[in-house]
Amino acid sequence: MVNRNDVCAGDAVNRKLVKKTDELLSKERGAVFKEPGGRINVCLIYPNTYHVGMSNLGFQGIYTLLNDRSDTLCERAFLPDKDDIDEYVRTDTKPFALESKRPLNKFDILAFSVSFENDYTNILKILELANIPLRASDRNQTHPLIILGGVCAFFNPEPLADFFDVCFIGEAEEMLNEFIDTYKKSETRKGLYGKTAAIEGVYVPGFYNIKYNNGIDSREALDGAPEKIKRRYIEDISAHKFRQSIVTPETEFSDMYLIEAMRGCPWKCRFCVAGHIYTPARKKELTAIKGEIDNALKITERVGLIGPSLTDYTHISEVLKTEGVDFSITSLRASKKSAELAGLLKGHKSVSIAPEAGTERMRRVINKKITEDDIIETSRLIFSEGMENLRLYFMVGLPTENGDDIKGMVSLVKKIRDISKKGNIVLTLSTFVPKPFTPFQWHGMEKIAIVKERLKAIKSSLLPIRGIKVFHDVPKYTYMQGFFSMGDRRVSKVLEAMLRIHDWKKACIESGIDPDFYVMRNKDFAEKLPWDFIDADIGKERLWEEYRKALSEKS
Ligand code: SF4
Repeated sequence: MVNRNDVCAGDAVNRKLVKKTDELLSKERGAVFKEPGGRINVCLIYPNTYHVGMSNLGFQGIYTLLNDRSDTLCERAFLPDKDDIDEYVRTDTKPFALESKRPLNKFDILAFSVSFENDYTNILKILELANIPLRASDRNQTHPLIILGGVCAFFNPEPLADFFDVCFIGEAEEMLNEFIDTYKKSETRKGLYGKTAAIEGVYVPGFYNIKYNNGIDSREALDGAPEKIKRRYIEDISAHKFRQSIVTPETEFSDMYLIEAMRGCPWKCRFCVAGHIYTPARKKELTAIKGEIDNALKITERVGLIGPSLTDYTHISEVLKTEGVDFSITSLRASKKSAELAGLLKGHKSVSIAPEAGTERMRRVINKKITEDDIIETSRLIFSEGMENLRLYFMVGLPTENGDDIKGMVSLVKKIRDISKKGNIVLTLSTFVPKPFTPFQWHGMEKIAIVKERLKAIKSSLLPIRGIKVFHDVPKYTYMQGFFSMGDRRVSKVLEAMLRIHDWKKACIESGIDPDFYVMRNKDFAEKLPWDFIDADIGKERLWEEYRKALSEKS
């Protein structure tokens, strides 16, 4: 354990920034404050703002798990708000942990929890502000150990691999405890790397030498490190104490306690990474969820149930009938059961369903296994329950999509609008991004110009209709997301350049990297993919078979 507990002269933190932090802390219930001495000091960092990070159950769950250990202290840090970054730079203030205000370099471990590819540059920004060398190879024992977790580490840590000492591949619960136990016993950084590389699911990027020949030519494991990293997963999500600790009004889900009801999804839509990597789908037992609700009620009556497909959660109706709880749920599947669930959410203003595509053909391609009749009937029942807003999620730029699919989407939304004169339809359009470990990992993204045209066509057809709103993402950012999602270690040069050059395309040119190579190409089965070293129990052959079925329009 390195002693970094003393805040030395020169590490003074800025009063204005401290005051702002204290204001946030004063609105929280459930934050943990511990004495740092004699404990492993971890700063858990979310590479986006407090508002975004504190809305993330994965981030909160790790905070709880680490603080459940008496030998470990976990504090939190976030990307400073945009306006504050200038203040940090102007006053040479280093980013600090909320709880103790200690600068990041005073911690033994900095653990980044990363859920979105477009936050990658924020990781480097935080390290730069903290005056910590970005690349693992430029750091030594005097620096904190820097680890990567979260869904991005799970499906493809390679664009970030050069910046991290250790990455967690899979669900962190058990792995994290094994890692901390090993950390305590290791005297040197090198010894730690060797021992942690032996923990299933722990990936030490420095142990791998990768050669490129246009794509990946070879990948060599050094010093006895395993060639493949087997992802970790938790068999019984009811048995683990992965739970939210802190409730605050300063998040997207204001004063809400989030409870995971299900992990993984049985449907396996071909574009969806969550549906593929969190397997098998696991459901929390009713007694476990009731226990969590009782705990939540001690601090708030607002409870958010989390799960990729809550319509499939066996106990959902019974849970929603719990007295005295104001429930919120994520998107529902288009089915009769979802409409019944909407009835149990009385008092709420909106409910979401995700048709994803506008035609039966396109839904066969993506394996969405719901029909137009399912979507229309569910919408009718939801409106008849008096819901004010029906949110509909669709995707644009999906593999094989054509003009008829876009017309089909418009026509489907119009049919839903015609069901009821009451209520609003809020359409959210996301651009398709190929993701690792899905059947579409071999498929290139649609050209931005075509995506923009299709978005324009949808908006011009639907926006004039009363009671329909349309939101969509920004295609250039989804292209960047695809680049980071599909990238290999060479992408790290672009991430570094982006600290100086804020235009990511120019950063690619300066780094000699062509993003189209990663994003726009259809790939062959034989191509070595950057994440092939992860054994996620999925089977590349099976994914390829699914991809071929998609291209033949078979579900
Ligand atoms: S139903 Fe939703 S969560 Fe499940 S695989 Fe499909 S898109 Fe993913």
